[in-house]
Amino acid sequence: MSARSAMMADLAGLLDHRALVAPEDAPPYEQGYRYGAGCAASVVRPASIAELRAIVTYCCRNDIGFLVQGANSGLVGASTPDDSGDQLLINLTRMTGIEELDVLDRAATVLAGTRLSAVNAAAASHQLCFPIDLGADPTIGGMVATNTGGARMLRYGDVRRNLLGLEVVLADADATIVTDLAGLRKDNSGFDWKQIFVGTGGAFGIVTRARIELHHLPQRTTAALVVPRGQEAVPRIIALLETALGDGLTACEGMSRNAMRAAFDHHPSLRDPFGGRIPDYVLLVELGTSMPEAILPDLDAALAEAIGSALVGASPDIEDVLVGRPADFWAIRHSISDGIARSGQVIAFDIAVQRSKLPAFRSAALAMLASDFPQIQVCDFGHCGDGGDHFNLVWPTCDLPPEAERRPVIEALRGAIYDLVVFGFGGTYSAEHGVGPHNQEYYDRYKPEPARALSGRLQSMFDEKGLMGNVRL
Ligand SMILES: Cc1cc2nc3c(=O)[nH]c(=O)nc-3n(C[C@H](O)[C@H](O)[C@H](O)COP(=O)(O)OP(=O)(O)OC[C@H]3O[C@@H](n4cnc5c(N)ncnc54)[C@H](O)[C@@H]3O)c2cc1C
Repeated sequence: MSARSAMMADLAGLLDHRALVAPEDAPPYEQGYRYGAGCAASVVRPASIAELRAIVTYCCRNDIGFLVQGANSGLVGASTPDDSGDQLLINLTRMTGIEELDVLDRAATVLAGTRLSAVNAAAASHQLCFPIDLGADPTIGGMVATNTGGARMLRYGDVRRNLLGLEVVLADADATIVTDLAGLRKDNSGFDWKQIFVGTGGAFGIVTRARIELHHLPQRTTAALVVPRGQEAVPRIIALLETALGDGLTACEGMSRNAMRAAFDHHPSLRDPFGGRIPDYVLLVELGTSMPEAILPDLDAALAEAIGSALVGASPDIEDVLVGRPADFWAIRHSISDGIARSGQVIAFDIAVQRSKLPAFRSAALAMLASDFPQIQVCDFGHCGDGGDHFNLVWPTCDLPPEAERRPVIEALRGAIYDLVVFGFGGTYSAEHGVGPHNQEYYDRYKPEPARALSGRLQSMFDEKGLMGNVRL
């Protein structure tokens, strides 16, 4: 019997048959959304924490490498196996359930495989939501592991800021469970161990349950497209909006002209609010409130007024403001990724700098690209309110050389952009997507040695045999 067949037989003895994925059904689990395509020794889908612990114990006792997967929507190749064919892939999307939705505490305790959409559907019936908002439907465990940010991070923060409790299974032969689901908003009684599992891609343990903070569902939103008078004006406008609108400001997304043009070109049903004269750069500003209409009946008008005529007059930094239906403006933003993907080869970057430095970074990067990589188009967009920029570049289809010629240019390009971000502007090569095999090389290059040594020591402590995941921190 081959090692793989022996493993399958062992797992069949440990788990309910529904937890076993037949080899012919494995490929969708082995292919990542953007990067990562490997081959698993086997794919298992436990439905309970007891089943998960049985698998972890089996792996640890038999020195079998394993990898945890949620919704597989990660963008750094961290949720799919390598190509050795030796790793066991543990998909958690059957381990679902909202165990408690506590309206008085404004919190929910959920199993790790539960989808964000399921949490929000349940919370909405109480006028609540988990407001980490993004274009995918991840699992709560995956969100903890990647510390998801999203478009409304400016207002609500990332997962870390909304995590009240956690339960994890450790990679040891007993599959030890560590639990703190008390959900206290204040607790300085010692080391807050749960933070070590946030944003570390499952390298230290497997999230099985989380207690998350819910927020009041915005009752009304309005949005505007704000055209800055020059790139340098952007941070001043954001600060001005924060002062004028306080908590009402729920998102501030940047969209470059090329990014918007790609969206309009490939999505003809989109309404072009600029009548064909797309500005260089636009801010999509969203305002929302959970205050009932009975208390503030004219809020929509007030918000529109605040970002419309009032600000245009008040600030020389703003060239124009278009107020409209939020859905129309978000449709442009959400069509960009697809639009640019249809325009050529996308070379994606998920960078962040201090938001006050974003204009200087963009200017320096645009100048460097124009001189050293003139064939490349900049189609960036992203969460500029928190300093993030999907600084995505497109090599237009009409100019694409063969793959072998492209590869070294793209490598040089990545190095040049990341050097500029990290060394030139003190920023990061991974704003919100994490490390993963796709970014391992940049982690090794840019993370300072003492920080890498500390992370490495922690990882060896949690995963003595190096069995878990496919990233070395
Ligand atoms: C269209 C699109 C838009 C996106 N937009 C954003 C965005 O705006 N902001 C953002 O931050 N991200 C964004 N993402 C990235 C992605 O959705 C997030 O990283 C998400 O949180 C991943 O969750 P997942 O359940 O899909 O995890 P997976 O992709 O399955 O796994 C991601 C990592 O988490 C680990 N992991 C998964 N579950 C567990 C668990 N229970 N315990 C321990 N480790 C675990 C995996 O091993 C892997 O390392 C986007 C992705 C797509 C496809």
